[in-house]
Amino acid sequence: MEGVLVTCEALASLEGECVRCLEPIDDDVDVRFQELFLYDDQAATAGYDPEDDDGVSMLEDDLLDLEPLLRDAVVLALPFQPLCEEDCPGLCVECGARLADDPEHTHEAPIDPRWAGLTELQHDED
Ligand SMILES: [Zn+2]
Ligand SMILES: [Zn+2]
Repeated sequence: MEGVLVTCEALASLEGECVRCLEPIDDDVDVRFQELFLYDDQAATAGYDPEDDDGVSMLEDDLLDLEPLLRDAVVLALPFQPLCEEDCPGLCVECGARLADDPEHTHEAPIDPRWAGLTELQHDED
């Protein structure tokens, strides 16, 4: 009676990068939403102003504008921190290598910068 109830399902493809290792990610999201689009005259009777962005969807000349709803639904479905894998180990803090490619990756214990000068003495001895 008041408008058109829209039930929508959309599949969107995602492209991004892992927040830990910067590896590109390709993924899909499947979003569903439902919205009541009020008829213009119904909206007017209910006191909604079409110029106001008061969160009420209205039919515009018998057309539905799904874009803002779709955008909101997809944004909410996006992972806050996208990962290439659940347990992505990220990058090596020493050299930036991707640890998932090289899990055995190690470095010699870093030298405390306050003692770094001593390594020169050691080289002199050599
Ligand atoms: Zn990753
Ligand atoms: Zn490294």
